[in-house]
Amino acid sequence: MGLNHVQITKSFGKLKNWIGNKEVESSTSQYMDLMSPYTGEKIGEVPMGTASDVDAAVKAAKAAFKIWSNTNIKERVQVMFKMKALMERDFEQLKQLVALENGKTLAEAHGDVAKAIEVLEFGCSIPNKISAPMLEVSNGIYCQVIKEPVGVVASIVPFNFPIMCPMWTIPIALTVGNTMVLKPSEQVPLGSLKLAALLKEAGLPDGVLNIVNGGVDVVNAICDHKDIKAMSFVGSTKVAKIVYGRAAMAGKRVLALGGAKNHLVLMPDANLETAPTQIVDSAMGCAGQRCMAASLMVAVGDCEKHIAGMVAYAKSIKVGEKLGAVINKQSVDRINKYITEAQNLGAKVLVDGRNQKPDNSDIKGIENGYWVGPTLLDNVSPDMPAGCEEIFGPVLSIVHVKTLEEALKIENNNPYGNAASIFTTSGANAQYLFRNANAGMNGVNVGVPVPREPFGFGGWNDSKFGNGDLTGDQGIDFWTQDRKITTKFIEPQVRNWMS
Ligand code: NAD
Repeated sequence: MGLNHVQITKSFGKLKNWIGNKEVESSTSQYMDLMSPYTGEKIGEVPMGTASDVDAAVKAAKAAFKIWSNTNIKERVQVMFKMKALMERDFEQLKQLVALENGKTLAEAHGDVAKAIEVLEFGCSIPNKISAPMLEVSNGIYCQVIKEPVGVVASIVPFNFPIMCPMWTIPIALTVGNTMVLKPSEQVPLGSLKLAALLKEAGLPDGVLNIVNGGVDVVNAICDHKDIKAMSFVGSTKVAKIVYGRAAMAGKRVLALGGAKNHLVLMPDANLETAPTQIVDSAMGCAGQRCMAASLMVAVGDCEKHIAGMVAYAKSIKVGEKLGAVINKQSVDRINKYITEAQNLGAKVLVDGRNQKPDNSDIKGIENGYWVGPTLLDNVSPDMPAGCEEIFGPVLSIVHVKTLEEALKIENNNPYGNAASIFTTSGANAQYLFRNANAGMNGVNVGVPVPREPFGFGGWNDSKFGNGDLTGDQGIDFWTQDRKITTKFIEPQVRNWMS
């Protein structure tokens, strides 16, 4: 389904924050234009919130915590069950919002919402997961561990998955009893606001989820706020590092996920029919704006037939049909600059995505959208900017080496560590990769190896600051603290050191 089916809404007007289960005007006078990546047209205005907006949200969350944390988990989880039904009811609307504000195709927007629902389903399973372990550790003496909420927590999310990224944190953090201040990306605030309205409809009490719109000032105020006990961040490495340091200095528990430069190794024995298309899709899907996108392919030995297949397939992908828009004009310029720079440094542009426009769309003004077509750069060296930096666009750089050992060396020299994949039909090659790659999420014949629930999401190295994963069982650990209880209700027959 192409972009023709995306409904371009004229304007959402001046957006508000969401505090205490209702829209609340921001205290700021500064607003940022919200643009549709499809047309470059303004579709609303986002308040660039202030520390006092954060304070108001924290106050609401703090008041709600007293009630919500004392509500039985069996009751709390009912809200998440209802939320699932509501997200399924409004699936089409959610998809449309994602496509409109982020530029994804409807198929990709579908994935964003579906993946969010999957995390929600995991949230619904939490009561079964955290039933407290108990052991008689001595005669008549029992030790028990209860997982308790941390308090008011915060979640700061990026632009690239407007529904999934907020839902990486909301179902888990809230089901275990925390209350939250969420800061969406100022570039895609609509998805989060819609989620908040649905949660209210699902029965979430006032103040349990609050949204403050804005940018750096809001993030800084969240990092510094003494009543926020734990926070997660998802975004670029540059900001993840700053946020991690600042929030940790303020005494918070922090998990900050950063950017990536994901390496994919292509072996000559890889399936010639499926590998080329899969690899191209891994790089071009969501216009390359995925922290798990394949960004650098290391071709080992003679992979010319595979590369020819990749070129043919990449040329068949048209912007505005299978490929959506990138988020903004600055992104178009940044991506084009990487391509031109690589070319000037000696790379060969096998498929050129610069200056492409959709040609089969009914959307008025689509020629003014933010488009970059699929791009394949050959003969890149790992030290070129296109060979080692995160481009965050539909560009795959290709490096050639003679051995798998050399390929792994290139992967492991990169400071990031989200994903590393290999395309091969040899078990030995596959094992060599996942025994040696310096990356948290590994794929064999899977170019975007995102672990699905109940497995946790999280990379290594400069792709993550802090311990544990954000989703899956480790997400439960991150949003809870363990209370250890030792009880003795009967007089032990034998006195011992625990008496
Ligand atoms: P970003 O770092 O620019 O923004 C992320 C959040 O930080 C936003 O809410 C933004 O308002 C805020 N922010 C921006 N600059 C800031 C600053 N100087 N100080 C404090 N806060 C600031 O990231 P983005 O452009 O929205 O998203 C793309 C990036 O996110 C890519 O690098 C991508 O790899 C990464 N990402 C990582 C993961 C992961 O799981 N590791 C997932 C999705 C996206």
